[in-house]
Amino acid sequence: MVERPDDRPEHDPRRAELADRLAVVRKRIAAAAGEAGRSGNLPSLIVVTKFHPAADIRRLAALGVTDVGENRDQEAAAKALELADLKLAWHFVGQLQTKKARSVARYAAAVHSVDRPQLVDALAKAVRNEMDSSGRAQLECFIQVSLEDDDGGTHRGGAAPADVPLLAERIAGADGLKLAGVMAVAPLGAPPGPAFEKLAAVSALLVAAHPGAGAISAGMSQDLEAAIKFGATHLRIGSDILGSRPAVG
Ligand SMILES: *Cc1c(COP(=O)(O)O)cnc(C)c1O
Repeated sequence: MVERPDDRPEHDPRRAELADRLAVVRKRIAAAAGEAGRSGNLPSLIVVTKFHPAADIRRLAALGVTDVGENRDQEAAAKALELADLKLAWHFVGQLQTKKARSVARYAAAVHSVDRPQLVDALAKAVRNEMDSSGRAQLECFIQVSLEDDDGGTHRGGAAPADVPLLAERIAGADGLKLAGVMAVAPLGAPPGPAFEKLAAVSALLVAAHPGAGAISAGMSQDLEAAIKFGATHLRIGSDILGSRPAVG
């Protein structure tokens, strides 16, 4: 049986908890935007729901959340199917194998982790098929940029900044794909500010060549303030709204 949250908030402590946590995060976003002098231009909030059940996403939708993020196709596809009655935009934010492109094209509005030409081609083909068969819209593509210095450190994925222009051309030239902008995950164990500053510079170069591609997907629970300071337009927030995730096996 599908777990359905009780519609009466007083009977659903989890809904109340999510509402509280969401309110705290929205306050942090507003405060950081105020600091950055961009109160009239708040970033979009994508709630990253990986590892949490579809019932939580249903609660979040009832609380006004419109955009959710997932990082594994199998999990995302199942949740999108179960929640097909909701008007949600699904954002794929994890490393993506080309063989998963067909599945992702069925439910995702955006992919934030485009990092190589083969993936661009696979997504373009898959999206065109879906456009023909189900009339889906173009897929928004963010180029994931690696902000690591090349030696050492844990690699968190993404294309080297030098590879962004060619990837951008390929996306912009592909029917079915819409070049949105850049995405990054701050390196572990280093202050996020300089990393997001670097991302802003990569974004500025991209926008010079592709004026419509000004989106910057940056900022997670730990570093959303720094991301907003350096121009994030899309935040990807998980644990500060949903609580901690079970450890990955
Ligand atoms: C899990 C994840 C997030 C959310 O991270 P939190 O620290 O839980 O806010 C954001 N972006 C990506 C790519 C993720 O995998």
